[in-house]
Amino acid sequence: MVIAVASGKGGTGKTTLAVNLAFVANPRPVQVLDCDVEEPNVHLFLKGQTLESKTVSVTIPSVDEEKCSGCEECSNFCQFKALVVIGKTVLVFPELCHSCGGCRLICPEKTIDEVPRPIGKVETLQVQNDLLLIYGTLSIGVAMATPLIREVKNSRDHGAPLTVIDCPPGTSCPVIESIKGADVVLLVTEPTPFGLHDLTLAVDTVRVLGIPFGVVINRAGQNYPSLYEYLEKEKIPLIGEIPLNRAVAQAYARGDLIINSVSGYRAKIEEIFSRLIDLAEKSKRV
Ligand code: SF4
Ligand code: SF4
Repeated sequence: MVIAVASGKGGTGKTTLAVNLAFVANPRPVQVLDCDVEEPNVHLFLKGQTLESKTVSVTIPSVDEEKCSGCEECSNFCQFKALVVIGKTVLVFPELCHSCGGCRLICPEKTIDEVPRPIGKVETLQVQNDLLLIYGTLSIGVAMATPLIREVKNSRDHGAPLTVIDCPPGTSCPVIESIKGADVVLLVTEPTPFGLHDLTLAVDTVRVLGIPFGVVINRAGQNYPSLYEYLEKEKIPLIGEIPLNRAVAQAYARGDLIINSVSGYRAKIEEIFSRLIDLAEKSKRV
């Protein structure tokens, strides 16, 4: 079972939910994947012993200009404008390259080679006997997060009974890459106009992917009925609510788990977990 925890905007409490869910989750062992590679922070809550640390690279073209005829076939082919030919000089813009390899294949002079470009690293930590954390960190200056997210997901044990994915915020390509293949998605929102606006975008995204999903309202208790009206109108399951509570923010700031430090919250997270599993099972039967 793969549970993806996502949100249309940052700062909704997505990581708090993902981390605490992992601790109450059953069956075990559990793997937590931090796919928010631009700003990974799950490791601030889940500390452990490093089992593996690997550098991840993508391939980019490298041109032997001595053999280049300046025909421009490579730059005309590249859909991402990652190559510019000036005379017999080919400029490569690595941050635009999607590593498709097409320019190498199309070059009539066979003068393009592929070289590795490091984009970040993936680390695996043993947090507990039955809890593993895998997280990626994108290198500074690298814009494309999806290859690294793919590597974080590939690094997991695909036979493990349960995986919890902390997705990046938003609805762009890195989010879709993170959610893809999940059995169920938990969308975390908050009862504010911004929260609702970004939730609607996230709902549209998850619906396109055809994955069952439910919503948790974090910092609940603020008077914002429009959110509840939206969920009802769209027939979106409300999986749970985490009340606005200063102790939750304090636990987060200390890097503590709310299930251990805020009274009554373990039961709330356990209930959210069990409703999520029900939702995923029910969708499989339909
Ligand atoms: S590998 Fe693909 S994306 Fe990269 S420069 Fe070549 S054609 Fe463009
Ligand atoms: S396709 Fe090959 S020969 Fe033509 S400009 Fe590009 S690198 Fe040079």
